[in-house]
Amino acid sequence: MKFIDKARHEEEANSWIDEYIDSGWNEEESSYCGIGYKQLPRNIRLLITESQDSLCCYCLKALDNSGLTLEHVIPESLNAGNQSEFDRYGSYIPKLATQVIPGDQFRQSRAKRETPPYPHDIAWYNLLASCNHTDHCNHKRQNRFIIPIPLDQTLAEEISYFTDGMCFSGNMELIDTLVVLNLNQSMLKKIRSVWFFLAERGYQDVEYISNNKDEILAEIDKNFDTGGLGFRGTFDNDANWGKLISYGYFLTQATVPV
Ligand SMILES: [Zn+2]
Repeated sequence: MKFIDKARHEEEANSWIDEYIDSGWNEEESSYCGIGYKQLPRNIRLLITESQDSLCCYCLKALDNSGLTLEHVIPESLNAGNQSEFDRYGSYIPKLATQVIPGDQFRQSRAKRETPPYPHDIAWYNLLASCNHTDHCNHKRQNRFIIPIPLDQTLAEEISYFTDGMCFSGNMELIDTLVVLNLNQSMLKKIRSVWFFLAERGYQDVEYISNNKDEILAEIDKNFDTGGLGFRGTFDNDANWGKLISYGYFLTQATVPV
């Protein structure tokens, strides 16, 4: 999996989030109002996507604006009554422990607060960009616990991909998270296996592949042992071809031959 280095943009992001939080402080009522992730300013949203090279934090699909959702590592639905859950996430990622507190706890303050910590629903370290597929990633996960693999370099490097497209980890603790995110969904596996096959055939340029559909499909047809899975038929379809291309990240990512 790809490590997302949130520290790289931390200062910039936090200064924008501070500004946003300040804009929600009502001096007369001594309370915060109207600040939530749904109204999060565009510059912060863009920075989240940019900081992960515009790839889904989990499945690594290239993101475009229409297919993007904001993922809360610590689920948005949790609150101050779930402190043990917050601690559990914090035990994996120290910044989630030091920079993030329950949103309701933050907003209960009758005085303007110093940051960090930030309310979890809009904290930089708790926000990732995910694809919007219903069968994997953010939507599939819902509010279930996961280990925040992309936020830790060591954990991210413990996830690899077999050349048959299978996503796996030798660290057994991470397997449940792969299952919750459904990262071995059949289409995802199929797509990754095609990329690994193309890499093995010497292809190096995603754009070239994207522009030469007929050649690529013929190559798959002739040389790729797909076990009768009908790969040519699958990717001849324009929507599926587009989906395949959106996972070009994997051209360079096969780690273990089967
Ligand atoms: Zn995804």
